[in-house]
Amino acid sequence: DPDRLLSSARRADDVDAALRPKSLDEFVGQRAARENLRVFIDAAKQRGDALDHVLFFGPPGLGKTTLAQIIAREMGVGFRSTSGPVIAKSGDLAALLTNLEDGDVLFIDEIHRLNPAVEEVLYPAMEDRALDLMIGEGPSARSVRIDLPRFTLVGATTRQGLLTQPLRDRFGIPVRLNFYGVDELEKVVTRAASLLDLHVAPDGAHEIARRSRGTPRIAGRLLRRVRDFANVLGEETVHARVADQSLTRLEVDALGLDAMDRRYLMMIADIYKGGPVGVETLAAGLSEPRDTIEEVIEPYLIQIGMIARTARGRCLNVAGWKHLGLNPPSTAQE
Ligand code: ADP
Repeated sequence: DPDRLLSSARRADDVDAALRPKSLDEFVGQRAARENLRVFIDAAKQRGDALDHVLFFGPPGLGKTTLAQIIAREMGVGFRSTSGPVIAKSGDLAALLTNLEDGDVLFIDEIHRLNPAVEEVLYPAMEDRALDLMIGEGPSARSVRIDLPRFTLVGATTRQGLLTQPLRDRFGIPVRLNFYGVDELEKVVTRAASLLDLHVAPDGAHEIARRSRGTPRIAGRLLRRVRDFANVLGEETVHARVADQSLTRLEVDALGLDAMDRRYLMMIADIYKGGPVGVETLAAGLSEPRDTIEEVIEPYLIQIGMIARTARGRCLNVAGWKHLGLNPPSTAQE
């Protein structure tokens, strides 16, 4: 559901672009990733080489696109962006690749959704900076090899395991992004507030941060909704009280879970007595695509210990039962 307030997927009204940090130093959190990228970028620049291909993986809204843009900026090269499902034919990708300028970053979002024929074109492009094209048809057909400019492919995917092995192997720099801590999200909120010319008190930033599901995109979105409430109420400064009132009105609970999260938890509790229950069954019951459940809803619920993914299906943990205000059965895990 694209209208889900907490959906970390992109929406048309997102001013993501305006809030994007422009340099590694401005980028909050993900310390290990940032430090490693700094080294690889500096080394590539010293050698006068393009940066090795980078794969970002992690739940939506954690900064994959932002980091791809930062890489281009820090390397001082151009940025081209597309996404897996958009590249329908191998010819589309060939056209993209041959139009790159020396050193460019080519960003492919949802790279796990490339069709296999297109993916084949990518292998020699990534490995040998070459494009193998078939010219002519039938017995006279022959293959020609075209050299490509140096470029850095930056791929993004929600889970590394969704990529085929040959594609995964061609990324020299795999980078995993994790959910952000509350202190980091406070910084994201404070930074975004100042860009929006909004005054947010530290306790207000804290309240929004702890209800943002560990995700900067959600933090930015909640901040904008809280701003609306504050404006209407004539509050000049966003304090915890206004933030709490607005977020409660928006059905974002104290842990940052929204109505969809609670429906998911309630379904396991109520209908499947705590599980295990298969993801397909949950998807059907909730009328949500399986991908959304696995890539958007579940990762955070797992992170905060509400549910567990087991070989036999999803189980509600003690924390999940308690969050719903229900008594956990003796079989529930901590
Ligand atoms: P993804 O590509 O992983 O879905 P994006 O890079 O589009 O996520 O980031 C979503 C939003 O969150 C953007 O508005 C971006 O500015 C913001 N954001 C993401 N990571 C950070 C960060 N580390 N610091 C500040 N803002 C961030």
